[in-house]
Amino acid sequence: MEFIKELKNLRFNYEVGKKTWFGSGGNSKLFFSINNRKTLQTLIKFIPNKIPLLVLGSGSNILIRDGGFKGLTIKLGKSFSFINLQKKNMILEIGSAAKDSEVSKFCYENSISGFEFLKGIPGTIGGNIAMNAGCYGSVISDLLLSCQILTKEGKIKELKRDEIKFSYRETSIKKNAIILSAKFFAKKGIKRNIAQKLKEISSNRVLSQPVSSRTGGSTFKNPPNESAWKLIEKINYRGKRFGGALVSKQHTNFMINDSLASSLDIELLGEEIREKVWQKFKINLDWEIKRVGEYKKI
Ligand SMILES: Cc1cc2nc3c(=O)[nH]c(=O)nc-3n(C[C@H](O)[C@H](O)[C@H](O)COP(=O)(O)OP(=O)(O)OC[C@H]3O[C@@H](n4cnc5c(N)ncnc54)[C@H](O)[C@@H]3O)c2cc1C
Repeated sequence: MEFIKELKNLRFNYEVGKKTWFGSGGNSKLFFSINNRKTLQTLIKFIPNKIPLLVLGSGSNILIRDGGFKGLTIKLGKSFSFINLQKKNMILEIGSAAKDSEVSKFCYENSISGFEFLKGIPGTIGGNIAMNAGCYGSVISDLLLSCQILTKEGKIKELKRDEIKFSYRETSIKKNAIILSAKFFAKKGIKRNIAQKLKEISSNRVLSQPVSSRTGGSTFKNPPNESAWKLIEKINYRGKRFGGALVSKQHTNFMINDSLASSLDIELLGEEIREKVWQKFKINLDWEIKRVGEYKKI
């Protein structure tokens, strides 16, 4: 019954690219905004394997190509964005659609330390775990106790932290698995210190990143013992333009949709950077941004 009710949230040819931080790219053939776990479980079980799946969080680390995504995009709704603190054992359980900003605010209000860095990341908890996100010396996997996922076969599994391999912006959680929620150990902290850290992170971020631009965060992973932004600086690409895409003048590892950039403009600018960095330093820059979907045939 719930499934039938939720079907009203199924969209065809939905403008998913426009919903990402970059605001570029094409449509998703199918788009389902889901609020109910049972609906999600039923859907996953019955969706044919040949239909590709994409879970969209806040869209802050993803580029949808101009030809769109020829599959089903799932957006988890409000009922997946809970934040519960079990005070008895100090376990924090968070739904995967909860926004980082809300989690850091909740932790501040409850004097829980260690989650301040989330103030600097504009994603969701599900996106954080999928990307093993981190900044200012902290990374989400260091705080994680366990994580609940829904497999492509429709099974809900609780994975303990040591059953998951995490590395720099990578996880061993399968691509088609949907992260539903996660548990963290909540360490008590001093509210005044937490507030100070949050303030520092906010002002650092505004100073160092183009946070009010249409961007996808760090474009490339830092190569071992190197900084991607420094390499890009050294090839003189600060402010470099390709169509409507621009290398941020503020942070050279951020690309911006400056005007009406297509996703191809953004991707080609990125590929040009990779090529130049390779020619000059023989260093391979790996994309951190997830590029999804089809190129548009012109
Ligand atoms: C201004 C700016 C600053 C940023 N700063 C940082 C930073 O300091 N550190 C950092 O690490 N990142 C940073 N990022 C990148 C980004 O915010 C993080 O990678 C974040 O974790 C992505 O979360 P999201 O919800 O937006 O995921 P999306 O961009 O929507 O998706 C990213 C990937 O995660 C997958 N995914 C999302 N939710 C789920 C789920 N529930 N289950 C399974 N897979 C899922 C998607 O399918 C996709 O493959 C920044 C981005 C911006 C725009």
